[in-house]
Amino acid sequence: MCGIVGAIAQREVSAILLEGLRRLEYRGYDSAGMATLAGPGDLRRLRTLGKVERLREQLDITPLPGKLGVAHTRWATHGAPSANNAHPHVSHGRCIVVHNGIIENHETLRRAQIAAGHAFTSETDTEVVVHAVYDEVLAGHGLVEAVRRATRQLEGAYALGVIDAQDPDRLVAVRFGSPLVVGIGFGENFIASDVAALLPVTQRFIFLEEGDLAELTREAVT
Ligand code: GLU
Repeated sequence: MCGIVGAIAQREVSAILLEGLRRLEYRGYDSAGMATLAGPGDLRRLRTLGKVERLREQLDITPLPGKLGVAHTRWATHGAPSANNAHPHVSHGRCIVVHNGIIENHETLRRAQIAAGHAFTSETDTEVVVHAVYDEVLAGHGLVEAVRRATRQLEGAYALGVIDAQDPDRLVAVRFGSPLVVGIGFGENFIASDVAALLPVTQRFIFLEEGDLAELTREAVT
């Protein structure tokens, strides 16, 4: 087990995401990471092997500005525990994914994606997800439809948090076989693996059901 936290807000989110990761540490993990959108197309990312505390140290040196972001603690299932295999994973500097779970058909998807020209930068099963989303975005679909289409290709278990760096007003979440909740704030909304991660920012939750896909903006959750 491991964790996901995501936030879309009118204030800076990195401290919220970091506190959320701390509150998920009990689930066990080997590495941690965070990505924020500092502005349209301006993606920032930090990943560290080891404790969330090490991520905090890196954040002190290199703050991640932005009012939209996702963070992750990883329990490696495919690929060694390393900073390079830590999430978030990114496709073409544009699509960003954090994933809990296992993509069972990752080898088949990976072969097809390599043949289609994608360059892989990690050993994880997760990286096929972010390239699949990117392909759908590039085909002209909005992020919600792109994620819906990409997940149709996936076999296995996944909770996902997804961002398009060209769309600073949207965070997409999916629950299929791994836990994920939505936290409702005022002018801000959140996702996490467990309500505990979000208690400092909200007491109002939507418990996603299996197969749910949620679109979060600052004003609404659909
Ligand atoms: N299977 C993915 C990986 O190894 C996600 C693991 C997790 O749930 O943290 O990177």
